[in-house]
Amino acid sequence: MTFVVGLTGGIASGKTTVANLFHQHFGIEIVDADVIAREVVAPGSEGLKAIENKFGSSVLLEDGNLDRSKLREIIFSDPSQKAWIDQLLHPMIRANMLAELANTTSEYALLVIPLMVENHLQHLADKVVVVDVDEATQLERTVARDNVALEQAQAIVAAQASREQRLAIADFVIKNNTENQKLLPQITDLHQKFLEIGRANR
Ligand code: ATP
Repeated sequence: MTFVVGLTGGIASGKTTVANLFHQHFGIEIVDADVIAREVVAPGSEGLKAIENKFGSSVLLEDGNLDRSKLREIIFSDPSQKAWIDQLLHPMIRANMLAELANTTSEYALLVIPLMVENHLQHLADKVVVVDVDEATQLERTVARDNVALEQAQAIVAAQASREQRLAIADFVIKNNTENQKLLPQITDLHQKFLEIGRANR
């Protein structure tokens, strides 16, 4: 069984940056819930067909991709539809994450789930790492990266789990308030720990 390290954090906390460092420096394979969430509604997928059957072809863009803003409008006007979509897609996403994890060959795998707390998915990981930043840094990085207004970044942060809720599920915390070069020592230290824990569990 693959030893699975779950990685989570709020918007722009640095999950991708951290995961890339684990991969580049230590060859750790990444399974990314956001990538899988897009794959299960890709053109030709069962997920997209089911959504089209339920809501009609107006949820498709001209190129056949899912029109996400249209779907958001539908959910906004009728929140019960979110439960239907979640019930359809969450089991698919979960099954694909498990299948991808089973295919990894590195000494442990990193399972990146941005909404781990919100969707109660921490049980999929043997250990949970939270990338932690203070809110001001998070907002600043969101605004700079996504070119959005501060108010929009604040609304996204407010809709996500709180920093405290995330830290409550953490076995390990990576602090990402300061500049990038402070990350690698933390990641190197954790990598050694995961190798030890993974070997002891084998
Ligand atoms: P999301 O879930 O919103 O996609 P994320 O948690 O994967 O975000 P990243 O994309 O890794 O976060 O980082 C967010 C932004 O902050 C990026 O532009 C990244 O380059 C920058 N960033 C991350 N860590 C640092 C750091 N330690 N110093 C400076 N900039 C950083």
